[in-house]
Amino acid sequence: MSAEKLWNGLREILSEGQINTNPDDLYDAAADRYKKYAKARKVLDVPTPLAIVYPKSVEEISKLMSFCNENLINVIPRGGKTATEGGLENWKETTIVIDAEHLNQIIKIDEYNMQATVQAGVPLQVLEDELRKVGLTTGHSPQSKPVAKYGGLVATRSIGQFSTLYGGIEDMVVGLECVFPDGHVARIKNVSRRAGGPDIRHIAIGNEGTLCYITEVTVKVFRYYPENNKFFGYLVKNIDTGVSVLREVMVAGYRPSVARVYSEEDARQHFYHFYQDHCVLIFMAEGNKGIVEATAKGIEEAVAKYQEGIIEQVDSTLIEDWFNHLNWSQQDIDDEIEGMIENDSHAGFTTEISADWETIPKIYYNVMSRIRNEFPRAHDLTMLGGHSSHSYINGTNMYFVYNYSINCAPEDEMRIYHHPLQTIIVEETLKLGGSMCHHHGIGKYRNEWTKEEHGSAYYMLEKLKEAFDPNGIMNFGTIFPQEEGIKYQK
Ligand SMILES: Cc1cc2nc3c(=O)[nH]c(=O)nc-3n(C[C@H](O)[C@H](O)[C@H](O)COP(=O)(O)OP(=O)(O)OC[C@H]3O[C@@H](n4cnc5c(N)ncnc54)[C@H](O)[C@@H]3O)c2cc1C
Repeated sequence: MSAEKLWNGLREILSEGQINTNPDDLYDAAADRYKKYAKARKVLDVPTPLAIVYPKSVEEISKLMSFCNENLINVIPRGGKTATEGGLENWKETTIVIDAEHLNQIIKIDEYNMQATVQAGVPLQVLEDELRKVGLTTGHSPQSKPVAKYGGLVATRSIGQFSTLYGGIEDMVVGLECVFPDGHVARIKNVSRRAGGPDIRHIAIGNEGTLCYITEVTVKVFRYYPENNKFFGYLVKNIDTGVSVLREVMVAGYRPSVARVYSEEDARQHFYHFYQDHCVLIFMAEGNKGIVEATAKGIEEAVAKYQEGIIEQVDSTLIEDWFNHLNWSQQDIDDEIEGMIENDSHAGFTTEISADWETIPKIYYNVMSRIRNEFPRAHDLTMLGGHSSHSYINGTNMYFVYNYSINCAPEDEMRIYHHPLQTIIVEETLKLGGSMCHHHGIGKYRNEWTKEEHGSAYYMLEKLKEAFDPNGIMNFGTIFPQEEGIKYQK
């Protein structure tokens, strides 16, 4: 379509102030944190979107989506911009970014029915702060909590640090409203449960902007009892001991809000002041007094059962302090990028996978060994480790973390370092039947494995895309593998 037709179409729907064509902002919108180093070095190799638009209502979003659908304009929905897997990266020449900035209203906090309704652009921290005033909490605490917004949190199927008690976002969403490419507005009502056919919330939850634009969300809320919190920390001999204790706590039926084990290398980054070259196991028990006391007892019993693998217990205030400084503000995010540029190093790249209890340690050791033996730039690694941070009755996750010095042209960083590392992690995980993406989503940089991840069930995913986005205008290249994207991928 001609540029003139695009501008005229946008101006018919929005006012001038709602359309941003500032070149710096468009460059910023071309990629997310996946290519943060290349972006900061100004060597991004992807097209910039043509405009960022800021609708103020569902009606405007519906009109924008219809306009883009009719004219084959690629749409990238955007929230807090904390995406880590390329979900916000642009792979099309004709793209507009629909930013949720003006959808910023908390619509209702319903203390009796224990749910809150927000527009998609409400930051998680804003709702959390409002709830705390009345003794409630969202229970949702990803490290990006100060910045991430509800539309993005739901679209990426996010999970927070207290997930073992409260669940992931999928356990919190009661109902929602979303807009499909043909402009149809769908509202999923708020009920405590229903058996009304397949659970259609899951078409929107985790869709990463590839099927619909989420405009409103209703989530469960919980009573907040910070005065009852109990923290536990232990130095343990190895990852296996830590995973065994986590499993013991979970299968005994306890739900501490936090249950984690860190490898020695990863522990050094977080607990350098007390880890003494050992793995670190931590728990937090949260909730009403009776539940906290029972959970604390359950944790102590599980630790006692694996006593031979426990080196010592650490002062609980060290764990509490660490928790109080874990979240990232926008300033932390900006400072991290400055640090990367200054030092030509990448600190804290991650690939998070999941599997059942018996498989997780196998994946962990296979990955460690393959990276150390096969990765051609192993000498540039400054850290390689991992932690399990989200546990379930039948398994847990492993969050591989790797830091490296960047000794190549900035535009080659992903090809030389990240891609081979991520490939080893994903291959080892899929080989043993695990999932290659526990919580950051597929974005654009794990889509080469989407079909393998889903196997014969990929049929269902593909049919959803064909049904809801037949013209393929929603976030091209995200989740669904695309030939045309391969040139940007490595
Ligand atoms: C420091 C840091 C810590 C993090 N910690 C965690 C963590 O603990 N747990 C976790 O799960 N994730 C974490 N993440 C990843 C990220 O914060 C989450 O994926 C978050 O849910 C993204 O929300 P956002 O509002 O920033 O979305 P964005 O980054 O703006 O978008 C993310 C994706 O969702 C789509 N999207 C955004 N809004 C909508 C909408 N309204 N409708 C449809 N699609 C939409 C986008 O197109 C994109 O694909 C972290 C990221 C950072 C930078």
